[in-house]
Amino acid sequence: MINGVRHEEHPDMSALWHDVVNDLQHVYDLHFVCASFSYQIARHTQTRTLIALDDSEAQCYDLWVTDPEGATKQLKWTKAESGIPPLMSISQPTFLEKMDRPAAEILSGNLWLQAHQRLLVAPLLPTARPYQAFPQTFLALIDPTDSNLQLIKGIVNLMCVYLDRAGLRTDVDRRTIEFAVISDISQALSGTLDIHQIYQLLKGPIRQVLNVETLSIALVEPVTEDIVFVDSLLGPRFTQLPPVRLKRGQGIAGWVAEHREPVIINNAYSDQRFFSDVDRTSGFRTHSMICIPLQVNERTIGIFQAINRKSGKFSDRDLQLIQALAGPLAAAIENANLHADVLAEMRRTEALFATLSEGLITVNREGIITRANSAFAALVSRPVEKVIGLSLRDIFRDRKGDIDQIIERALSATEDSVELALEFAREDHPALSLYLGGAPVTNDTGQVDEIIFIFSDLTEAQEVERMRDDLFEGIIHELGTPLATILMYSRLLQKGRVRQPDRAERFLGVIERESDRLQRMIRQMLDIAKIEAGEIRRSPEPVLLNPLFEEVLPPMADRAIQKGLLFRQRIEPDLPPVMGEIEGYKLVLNNLLDNAIKFTPSGSIQVAAWKADEGVMVEVSDDGIGIPPGSINNLFRRFYRTQTAVERSIAGSGLGLYMVKESLRNYNGSIEVESTLGKGSVFKIILPIVQT
Ligand code: ADP
Repeated sequence: MINGVRHEEHPDMSALWHDVVNDLQHVYDLHFVCASFSYQIARHTQTRTLIALDDSEAQCYDLWVTDPEGATKQLKWTKAESGIPPLMSISQPTFLEKMDRPAAEILSGNLWLQAHQRLLVAPLLPTARPYQAFPQTFLALIDPTDSNLQLIKGIVNLMCVYLDRAGLRTDVDRRTIEFAVISDISQALSGTLDIHQIYQLLKGPIRQVLNVETLSIALVEPVTEDIVFVDSLLGPRFTQLPPVRLKRGQGIAGWVAEHREPVIINNAYSDQRFFSDVDRTSGFRTHSMICIPLQVNERTIGIFQAINRKSGKFSDRDLQLIQALAGPLAAAIENANLHADVLAEMRRTEALFATLSEGLITVNREGIITRANSAFAALVSRPVEKVIGLSLRDIFRDRKGDIDQIIERALSATEDSVELALEFAREDHPALSLYLGGAPVTNDTGQVDEIIFIFSDLTEAQEVERMRDDLFEGIIHELGTPLATILMYSRLLQKGRVRQPDRAERFLGVIERESDRLQRMIRQMLDIAKIEAGEIRRSPEPVLLNPLFEEVLPPMADRAIQKGLLFRQRIEPDLPPVMGEIEGYKLVLNNLLDNAIKFTPSGSIQVAAWKADEGVMVEVSDDGIGIPPGSINNLFRRFYRTQTAVERSIAGSGLGLYMVKESLRNYNGSIEVESTLGKGSVFKIILPIVQT
């Protein structure tokens, strides 16, 4: 019995039943089920039969219309043109007379165009079924006989069973496919540490599976807790715009991050939480969205949004899919970010390691070098790759066991750092004084696996200290001589022992000369202090030499002529600019010319300047007393004066040429001397031309 109707009373029914069951024995396809019922009902009732299956995503019906001879037409009607929706509220198979229906309904629907007089309609609603698996289905017999009613009443239940069966199978198949894709994507996500690759997966396959216009991710900024959208996922409308940033709680994304709950919205603009500013500035239009929190170990790292479902509405099923993806996605983003942090940290350490001017190495528990930077390699005069694998003790030939001892101390991890002063004996070179600082590196279990050692070369610092001591000694000595002379003569004058006016005159002359010398020396020492402190060594700039010669040469020429010397100059016009500093070059020229005049009792002095391939050449030559060959190498040292100059009591400090050499060195210039004792000297300098 079906719905109280016995088969025997309706022989058509059992034949129809039999044919349908036969037809659909192994069929699970919704469309096939509809086609088969349409065909069998039309054949058995000899009435045109129509079955419409709701395709809610496309907003239309798929239709099968079969005439009594069994010819089936398959059609597609939009919902609006079909005229079916108003009839879906009918709960039982019912006859509808065309005459009884409102005119508007009859005129507006395709359905009524099929019938002359009446329809027998039977909506099959999924809500009436336990599984609710199939879409809304509508059965209509066109111009039926009265007896058709019982038959239809009997058949709708059977039809529901088959529709359900097919619906369930379609559903299961779809889920199987979706979860297979999700599992593939999850695997791909867990297999990459590259954040860009993750974003590519989101833009491509993940977006396709979810059937949405766009996917976006916003990450929670650790300090501000603001939610910042990932630019590269936002698409071309956002490229010219500032980053999209929401406060905690602001917009749907902010709400989801704060409440850690997913949200399904099918009409964004009607949701009070929606923050429409982003749409307004970008021109993008948000209709629907699913937004879920991305969590790693209870911590919300961001949110994941699927925006604008391409057809139909977002459903719980979509949410399930997105949630299935969110776990692997959050883990992949977290891992990629951690990995990027580790890489950045490694690069920073590498850069620090490589660029540090101090020698840096790591050694293992056995004291074997595992890493070394180039400064360390230079210190021990071996290439980096030859240093790695050697024992620290062997490199420094430490027989006393000092190195073993500090390694031991570092390994015990009782001290934060250890240190040692070390002499490094080298072949052909003086020994190096090194300072060695070490810090233990502990592993996860707190054990020391490695020690970092830093090597500082104290030799240079000690040398600088020694030079400073020398300079002080020199200064005291050099200042002492003129001071003692001044003191002696002034005392003689004071005590009135000098009666003859010409002697007093001579004594005053000595005092004046020595005071001049003192003053000059003090000035020079200040200049030296400035040069050494780098004050004169400001950044080099182009210097024009012709105006400089015009300023420096005339007073020097006057002095030479006053002394009875011949002064000649041959300066090429339009010399190219040279790199350096005006004050520095003035100092160079003044010192060289001052010496030439000072050390030339008679004869001539020449200055020449011309442009050559290697730079601008400047030559200062004289017919003076010359320099003994053995002194040439010492000329540029501090306080050095030749014996010949001292013997002749020619005033000087021995600082001028030192300053000349230092200044030229700062500007990459060079100086050479040629001299013949008793004949004269030539000082040649080369100045670097400004490269254009
Ligand atoms: P100063 O001239 O004050 O003694 P310098 O450093 O300028 O100091 O020169 C160092 C020494 O080099 C001079 O004392 C002198 O012995 C020698 N010297 C420099 N220039 C000449 C020169 N043109 N002819 C001979 N000797 C020179």
